[in-house]
Amino acid sequence: MIIPIRCFSCGKEIASRYKPYLELLEKGESAKEAFKKLGLERFCCQRMIVGHVDLIDDLLKFPRLQ
Ligand SMILES: [Zn+2]
Repeated sequence: MIIPIRCFSCGKEIASRYKPYLELLEKGESAKEAFKKLGLERFCCQRMIVGHVDLIDDLLKFPRLQ
């Protein structure tokens, strides 16, 4: 859905780094370099970004069921 604001394990703020991370990957950098540039060194924070599937734009196409 939406990227969580903070890492579930350590509480570090990660949401602001999700888009820059995707932009760095588009520029052709490896995930390891991108994490280093964004200051995400712990595996717990890295898994938050790697494991995220951004579905919110796909789900907004459907109407609410009530
Ligand atoms: Zn963390």
